[in-house]
Amino acid sequence: MGLAALTAIAQTPPAGPVSPPARRPFASPDTPRQTEQIREADIKHIKAELVLDGQKQEVRGMVTHTLSPLHPYLTSLDLDCGPKLKVSRVAVGPHAAACKFATKGEKLSITFDKPYRPNDTVDLAITYSGSPESGLHFVAPDPANPEKPLAIWTQGEAEDNHHWLPCYDYPNNRVTTEMIITVAHPLSVVSNGALVDTKENCDGTRTFHWKMDQPLSTYLITLTASEFVSFHDRVGNLPVDYYVTKDVDEATARRFMGKTPAMIRFFNDKTGQTYPYCKYAQICLPEFGGGMENTSATSMTDAALLDEIEALESDEDELVAHELAHQWFGALMTCKDWSHIWLNEGFASYFDPLFAEHDKGVDEFRHRMDGELKSYLGNDRMYRCPIVETRYKLRWICLTR
Ligand SMILES: [Zn+2]
Repeated sequence: MGLAALTAIAQTPPAGPVSPPARRPFASPDTPRQTEQIREADIKHIKAELVLDGQKQEVRGMVTHTLSPLHPYLTSLDLDCGPKLKVSRVAVGPHAAACKFATKGEKLSITFDKPYRPNDTVDLAITYSGSPESGLHFVAPDPANPEKPLAIWTQGEAEDNHHWLPCYDYPNNRVTTEMIITVAHPLSVVSNGALVDTKENCDGTRTFHWKMDQPLSTYLITLTASEFVSFHDRVGNLPVDYYVTKDVDEATARRFMGKTPAMIRFFNDKTGQTYPYCKYAQICLPEFGGGMENTSATSMTDAALLDEIEALESDEDELVAHELAHQWFGALMTCKDWSHIWLNEGFASYFDPLFAEHDKGVDEFRHRMDGELKSYLGNDRMYRCPIVETRYKLRWICLTR
């Protein structure tokens, strides 16, 4: 996750005479303790065939889950499903037989006509449409900002992907994915894994088929769409891709992301684990906050695209290195429940200063670590919590870096 600090969750101090602020608890005493969710089924593959309609700001289509029960007799299944999604059909099995379902709050409850057993492999297809209020964002020009680029993007962490994709939205299940996404011409789509097909349709739309063969947690699924231009590097056989909206030139893109190959080589050496995915893409997006380490396809704010003058005084290497480090610590390995997100963020927040040391010298490393320490102590003065905190609300936990 990006560079928002925990300080963002601190409540506004009460008005009155200035006095040393009292340390507040991280979570109010009535916040329930969270435990890891228990899975009813092992969801192995998600295939989404969706239209992203920028005009209606709507998603519609079908998602198919391939799963095997984790109970001896699975007669029903609850999935996470955003309240703005209207489910019109749920079908199961090779003949796509309709099955009963009900939606309530953020759950889609499906009842099977017969029990399924752990050795069964079941295809479960959900047809739906809707205009999500979170998880999927449509950015469009408006009268005050006519030059704003059109863009569509998702943000899954912590549990927001179910607002546009009915799924098991919790990190302790890993799936391979296929995203077959249709958008209006001239938009293009970037997602996890490899682009295996593109198609120009006769109605003026285009379809992009992205396939991810290595399993990932659902919060790391991503879709991004815009009239992208892209620039490319390689590390050995690994494609390293930089996507920006069409108004951004190559020099600006490379000014921001151009050290990525050096970072990949450094992290390969430092971890002893070669970068694990088939490509590494970074997609710069309008109105995106910070960065998000979606597996093999990191989303980042386009505000980090500095011009020549801005780049004289600063750079955004920290953001690039942080999100890249998450591909090892956060994507290849990730937490089974959110109380352990500190490990994802701790590793990423340490490995980007390690690259700074490699790139700029030990003084830069010490300066960065000193900043991290001061930030931590500043937070500790406002609230104190154990490193593994099980009392939290998701909107807090996803603000941690
Ligand atoms: Zn992070």
